[in-house]
Amino acid sequence: MGAVNTAQKSNVVEHGEVILQVRDLVKHFPVRMGFWQSMKTKEQPVLRAVDGVSLDVYKGEVLGLVGESGCGKTTLARTILRLTDATSGEAILEGQNIFDLNEAEMKKLRRKMQIIFQDPYESMNPRMDVQTVIAEPLILQGLASSAHDARDVVASVLADVEMVPPEEYMGRYPHELSGGQRQRVAVARALSVDPDFIVADEPVSMLDVSIRGEVLNLMLRLSRTRGVTFIYITHDLATARHICDRIAVMYLGKIVEMGTADEVIQTPLHPYTTALIGAVFVPDPRHRGFAEVLKGEIPSPVNPPQGCRLHPRCPYTMDICKQVEPPLVLHEGTHQVACHRAER
Ligand code: SF4
Repeated sequence: MGAVNTAQKSNVVEHGEVILQVRDLVKHFPVRMGFWQSMKTKEQPVLRAVDGVSLDVYKGEVLGLVGESGCGKTTLARTILRLTDATSGEAILEGQNIFDLNEAEMKKLRRKMQIIFQDPYESMNPRMDVQTVIAEPLILQGLASSAHDARDVVASVLADVEMVPPEEYMGRYPHELSGGQRQRVAVARALSVDPDFIVADEPVSMLDVSIRGEVLNLMLRLSRTRGVTFIYITHDLATARHICDRIAVMYLGKIVEMGTADEVIQTPLHPYTTALIGAVFVPDPRHRGFAEVLKGEIPSPVNPPQGCRLHPRCPYTMDICKQVEPPLVLHEGTHQVACHRAER
């Protein structure tokens, strides 16, 4: 992957305008009880997928949501997009709480918020050619009457994702494209309605390693040239470091650390972030890897530990950690952390 200009990255955050404010967002899923369990308790157990997340998203930035599978990052993004209903909290875009909008208002707002899925092949109708795939959101939004009518926009966004000449690709079907080309078409489709932000959910994890960098660099370039904001969901800190202006690290439904990519990667303050970094960036086999730094398995989000959710696994656990949940507090610059040890 090519080098990224760090100064250019931090500028976006320092001088950026907040386009999305998430406040105390909670998303719980009811868990089905077995017969005997339902006899013993009247309380409905819930899976606490997202459990009180607050963050600001800046215009034109690439914000990484990083964590292991099951930490709540995809649910957080899907809830913001209202693909699933929030349990409580707010997501404010252009002064409106997304969760308060009616269907007609939501349809209008959908144009501003797009998503790119992990597997572009699954998210595309195999019977539609590229022109129709890209034109579909324009037609749904009433911005074009047919794929033919949308031809100029389709050509323009195909050029934006470096599929040139566009005419060469418009008539192809998804199976006639490589994995990287399909993901570029998915990006072009999201761009077609001129959105404010795009959630990219593990967009390169199914691609060959050799072309991951190309697609990630494309996202970074689009954020800089078109001012599109990306929320990049990944379990991979290495790619997050490469393209993200800021990184939010999630563990068991909570943000445990957040800051610029440099703050989080170069001076991690949370033991969970340190363990993630150790697993990715330290090639020395003598270094204590992820499994050695953190004891045991990730607990169930149905019954998360009291106090700090990492305390049963953390090598630095103190008494307070078992009782009091550490809030996410500003440490320095834009660097925030939720850890009692970092407060000392
Ligand atoms: Fe570890 Fe305590 Fe910090 Fe939690 S609050 S990460 S248990 S030191």
